[in-house]
Amino acid sequence: MSATAASVTRHDWSLAEVKALFEQPFNDLIFQAQGVHRQHFDANRVQVSTLLSIKTGACPEDCKYCPQSGHYNTGLDKEKLMEVQKVLEAAAEAKAIGSTRFCMGAAWKHPSAKDMPYVLKMVEGVKALGLETCMTLGKLDQEQTKALAAAGLDYYNHNLDTSPEFYGNIITTRTYADRLETLSYVRESGMKICSGGILGMGESLNDRAGLLIQLANLPEHPESVPINMLVKVKGTPLAEEQDVDPFDFIRMLAVARIMMPKSHVRLSAGREQMNEQMQALAFLAGANSIFYGEKLLTTGNPQADKDMLLFKRLGIQPEAREEHDDEVHQAAIEQALVEQRDSKLFYDAASA
Ligand code: SF4
Repeated sequence: MSATAASVTRHDWSLAEVKALFEQPFNDLIFQAQGVHRQHFDANRVQVSTLLSIKTGACPEDCKYCPQSGHYNTGLDKEKLMEVQKVLEAAAEAKAIGSTRFCMGAAWKHPSAKDMPYVLKMVEGVKALGLETCMTLGKLDQEQTKALAAAGLDYYNHNLDTSPEFYGNIITTRTYADRLETLSYVRESGMKICSGGILGMGESLNDRAGLLIQLANLPEHPESVPINMLVKVKGTPLAEEQDVDPFDFIRMLAVARIMMPKSHVRLSAGREQMNEQMQALAFLAGANSIFYGEKLLTTGNPQADKDMLLFKRLGIQPEAREEHDDEVHQAAIEQALVEQRDSKLFYDAASA
């Protein structure tokens, strides 16, 4: 396929085809991916999201890459569910520095009935600020999925992480089928899906291809596909894994772009360890979404400043930021905060 041939959205990828994409000469692959990218996106726009951990650590799952798992001792400070008000303040700050989507993550196996009302308030409040909303809370049942959709949740993040064949080497406390079931509930409820995986866990090329096949062969492609580079954290079982060849990581982004031409491919965890040249190559391969860093965001956020400087040097604009004039924007923020302050759910969500 040439870079200019019309890209087709397919759901029937085979392993042989996907491996053939990966095994092309690097320049041919990047050229093809960039050609597909330009058919569906402005090549000089990148969507910017902010991620906030609303409940940190002590997770009962045993994902071998994750410092938040309660199975490993990584010295991470554990935190209970954040207060709704604090989440909204963080969201307002994220918006002020140009994020269009606010992602809230909780280290749970699944949300409990006790936590759901607070989570729903967070969604409503962030939505009222004019941001797109995204959450990652673990496994959901159908009722929870419907409630989140009704509260205004735009995206649900639930990563498949790797191929079904390699999955058991990484996680034993849940199954691949569980993940696919939650994704199907999310889709049924009308929310958008954010789902991707991680490179650098000791997986083979077949596993990388297998992950992309799982995602691309879903009845609808996930709207957002985060591709993460393992961040090796001391105390986790994968702390000593070998580094991924940076060009293999770029190949993964390019193949994801070709297989899911209309999805946002997100350059996700591990970006802070990549130099600017590698990030530029990632955008060339078709990545068009980033987080402003894994942690939110205090005044002056140097990481965000650095990102904006890189965008400027590359002539990249953040995608589709909603344009409010400052007064309207400020009024919207204040009103949402006041409403939340008046809500009985404001007070110490974690101890309720
Ligand atoms: S479910 Fe999420 S928070 Fe929990 S251990 Fe796995 S990756 Fe970490």
